[in-house]
Amino acid sequence: MSDLRELYQQVILDHNRRPRNYRKPEHANRTAEGVNPLCGDRITVYLALEGDVIADIGFQGSGCAIDRAAASMMTDSLKGRTISDAERLFEGFHRMLTNDGNGSATAEGLGKLAVFAGVSEFPSRIKCATLPWHAVRAALAGKTDAVSTE
Ligand code: ZN
Repeated sequence: MSDLRELYQQVILDHNRRPRNYRKPEHANRTAEGVNPLCGDRITVYLALEGDVIADIGFQGSGCAIDRAAASMMTDSLKGRTISDAERLFEGFHRMLTNDGNGSATAEGLGKLAVFAGVSEFPSRIKCATLPWHAVRAALAGKTDAVSTE
């Protein structure tokens, strides 16, 4: 398990150093800002929605390593997916981090997002990891105010 944890940590650090999709897509038609006052994370997500498909997605902003890595991997995971796919992934991700339900974290169906399972042991960091997802949900819902974790 410690080897796996080490690997997960390296994946997160890599995404923090070289975030994927760190840009505003040319045809973005949905956007939302998310702020996490506890940590100081501030992130804007941009979506190019075509029908109910997220054709392109990117983000910009300033955040801690967990937040940047979460946004980077989230954008990778959501590109080309439908809105209902995105909702399902968010619910699974949130459940993994908060241990909702049966008290044991499950990463089933989350693919590489499973690297964030260890974050559930650090309650103050959970909001860093979920902030990009809250911003995407706000963007999909057409909300224009910044979404805050507080
Ligand atoms: Zn943070």
